[in-house]
Amino acid sequence: MRTQQPKRIVVKVGTSILTDGTRWLSPPRMVDLARQCASLQQNEREVVLCTSGAIAAGRERLGYPDSVGTVATKQMLAAVGQGRLMLMWERFFEIYGQTVGQILLTHGDVTSRGRFLNAQDTLQALLANRIIPIINENDAVATEEIKIGDNDNLSALVAVLADADLLILLTDQPGLFTADPRQDPRAELITEVRAIDDRLWALAGDSGTGLGVGGMATKLEAAVIARRAGIEVVIANGRERDVIARVAAGEALGTRFLALETPPENRKRWILAGAVSSGRIVVDFGAARALRHEGRSLLPAGIVAIEGSFDRGDTVAIVETSEAPEVTEPGKANSIRGADSGEIARGVARYPSEDLDRIKGCHSESIAEVLGYTYGAVAVHRNDLILM
Ligand code: GLU
Repeated sequence: MRTQQPKRIVVKVGTSILTDGTRWLSPPRMVDLARQCASLQQNEREVVLCTSGAIAAGRERLGYPDSVGTVATKQMLAAVGQGRLMLMWERFFEIYGQTVGQILLTHGDVTSRGRFLNAQDTLQALLANRIIPIINENDAVATEEIKIGDNDNLSALVAVLADADLLILLTDQPGLFTADPRQDPRAELITEVRAIDDRLWALAGDSGTGLGVGGMATKLEAAVIARRAGIEVVIANGRERDVIARVAAGEALGTRFLALETPPENRKRWILAGAVSSGRIVVDFGAARALRHEGRSLLPAGIVAIEGSFDRGDTVAIVETSEAPEVTEPGKANSIRGADSGEIARGVARYPSEDLDRIKGCHSESIAEVLGYTYGAVAVHRNDLILM
């Protein structure tokens, strides 16, 4: 059992749970899930709900047959169903006095760095205001080629986006088994996974075959993504009583995938792997010291120049100005001047270069006034920064 309680939890509920195995969304099941999420949220945790069921809801509303072929038809079902799905969640969370907010994501929102930051800001704003974000893929506009495709993978990307501690994948099975429990009476539940190896992939099968009926392959894919970012993952049965709180409390329920260690290092590698721009941010001595020795974010006030051009979300080099600081105490200034004036850090820019150029040297409070908008107080956040 983990020593520290997870603070931020992403809960993913699949269609099989929301419909309770029928063809329709099940209000009692959804009310129960809303109660569980609201209760955790009201106990000092932060919950993000990743919900499937839009297409199922659309099918229910329009009386459509189970198998629909064309992309446009599915998009239509999602367009009708997403509103209906959200209406239900909104009502059910209201019973427990919990406000919710909808975010519909597409593939580009999590793969393009600038849009990743936008989605992250929205998510953080909702959480900071104690609102439960309810997330689904924007199926009404996402075509097959550009889809994330399944909500297991989506929820893992959301967990990374939200910087979550725990991802709970609720399904209609107790977890991952050593064999197909419907065919092999000796099949046992795997309670803890430390490495996702070939044997595990073979057990998960493809979706629709063997154990993959519950979509175990996509759940493993989700576990790979989340664990790498230092997030623990649990696959559990959504019908189990109080499953969300119990899993969050560390009870041995379902299949638990331990997070990989050194998440900060992995995150940093991810920063370095992003689109590296040729642009550079030149900072003053004070900012350089704050980045190097105090683990601070870079504020516009510490920027003296912008070189080259880059977009919000690009990775840029941060360099220290080679100009001497104002010399008030000669001895001190000399020692600062003796420091390396090359690249001191690399990080993800929160503003495009032309806008940073306009706010360089400014107090963060005046960003909105100068630009007419704001993405927040920092130019490069310390979480998105690696010292060189
Ligand atoms: N986004 C789909 C829907 O809401 C569900 C995808 C999935 O269940 O994995 O219908």
